[in-house]
Amino acid sequence: MEPVHIIGAGLAGSEAAWQITRRGVPVVLHEMRPAVETFAHKSGDFAEMVCSNSFRSDDDVMNAVGQLHWEMRAAGGLIMEMAGRHRLPAGGALAVDREAFSAAVTQMLRAEPLVTIAPGEITQLPDTGNWIVATGPLTSDALAHAIRGVTGTEALAFFDAIAPIVHAETIDMSVAWEQSRYDKGETLAEQKAYINCPMTKDEYEGFIDALLAAEKTEFHEGETAGYFDGCLPIEVMAERGRETLRHGPMKPVGLTNAHKPQDKPYAVVQLRRDNALGTLYNIVGFQTKMKYGAQTQVFRMIPGLQNASFARLGGIHRNSFLNSPTLLDDRMRLRPRPNLRFAGQVTGVEGYVESAAMGLLAGRMAAAQALRRDLPPPPFTTAMGALVNHITGGAEAKTFQPMNVNFGLFPPLPEMRSGRRGRKDRYPAYTQRAKDDFSAWLATQ
Ligand SMILES: Cc1cc2nc3c(=O)[nH]c(=O)nc-3n(C[C@H](O)[C@H](O)[C@H](O)COP(=O)(O)OP(=O)(O)OC[C@H]3O[C@@H](n4cnc5c(N)ncnc54)[C@H](O)[C@@H]3O)c2cc1C
Repeated sequence: MEPVHIIGAGLAGSEAAWQITRRGVPVVLHEMRPAVETFAHKSGDFAEMVCSNSFRSDDDVMNAVGQLHWEMRAAGGLIMEMAGRHRLPAGGALAVDREAFSAAVTQMLRAEPLVTIAPGEITQLPDTGNWIVATGPLTSDALAHAIRGVTGTEALAFFDAIAPIVHAETIDMSVAWEQSRYDKGETLAEQKAYINCPMTKDEYEGFIDALLAAEKTEFHEGETAGYFDGCLPIEVMAERGRETLRHGPMKPVGLTNAHKPQDKPYAVVQLRRDNALGTLYNIVGFQTKMKYGAQTQVFRMIPGLQNASFARLGGIHRNSFLNSPTLLDDRMRLRPRPNLRFAGQVTGVEGYVESAAMGLLAGRMAAAQALRRDLPPPPFTTAMGALVNHITGGAEAKTFQPMNVNFGLFPPLPEMRSGRRGRKDRYPAYTQRAKDDFSAWLATQ
């Protein structure tokens, strides 16, 4: 039988390899480390955790990432199995002994007779065969160049510039209002495409002080090559002058406060819809290197966001990722070259768990193809399905930035109470529905 080739033995590639061999299909696993290094990896082992040693919350009732753990375990995932074996005490989080964990993943794959390890960097995209590209946020330059040759230069980003994303139901609409600047747009929906949060002069000055004082993270050494001026962090804009933001992303022009039409806001923060469901909004132009704790404090100073709950916080990192909503089909194949599947962080998901989950799915889909079957994605009521649906279609392609799994990606349950208070009933209902639907999806295979 023709093997499936996987480029990259990170979190995604390792999980994909495992899933494929469980279905009796051979794998060739291409890995460039340790011969070719990245600025973040430290070893030649597979599935190296480059920064924190945590797979985040393991709560599969009240937390979306915990639900994703549950689904990966139900699907016999290697990453979750090895994480469980090398677990460290960390409250409700799944933290691991990182070295023991990646040594164990490496050993499992090296010991698997259906896996052939092929050391070395892949620099071209193959025209034929069944391939999975799982080269991660630090995809080597030569391969990134080859990918851009097929997708176009705009379609593979080298940095993410993530503006914070807010759960729509937690925005205080008695303070904020819907309006596009100058009411632009043909339809009413377009004229109301943005949510606006007004600031007085005092609120603006207080906000700038907090931005300047907030703790920031630094770029890693070697990370900034290719970083450009077009996605400056808001705190850097504020450092360039206290008025810079008021003339940039916070300019108050073309907007009338629907609650107080006589009051001219001194500055306005705009939020734009981030998904087709309308459950998530991003804060326009607010990419930042502030530390996560500081972000929550500073952004809750914005009138209307005082109780905001964040689906993800902002960041700027070296990160190669595709514009997947335009490039990948729902089987995770590259539309212009369907012999290539993509998996992991390079598809525009964010995080160890999400990357490994996309590896699991791509692996099962590639194995199905090798066995002349077709595997549809899990329903988007599941954590895995919600995530793959987001990257391959649900997300806004124009503003696409990497995404963590979160309940905002799940289709709402109309009968459940919305808002923060409804969570204690809503979240268990989401995760129960996800478990039922994921089990049914597994049972079809
Ligand atoms: C600096 C940094 C810190 C991060 N911190 C965290 C964190 O704390 N928590 C979190 O959840 N997520 C974090 N992430 C995000 C992300 O979850 C991880 O990067 C994760 O490892 C992604 O999994 P992956 O399998 O897609 O990529 P990787 O795990 O990076 O695996 C990709 C593999 O492909 C190999 N490769 C690349 N190009 C080629 C090529 N041309 N030929 C052959 N092999 C190749 C690489 O050597 C690597 O082994 C971080 C990312 C970065 C860059």
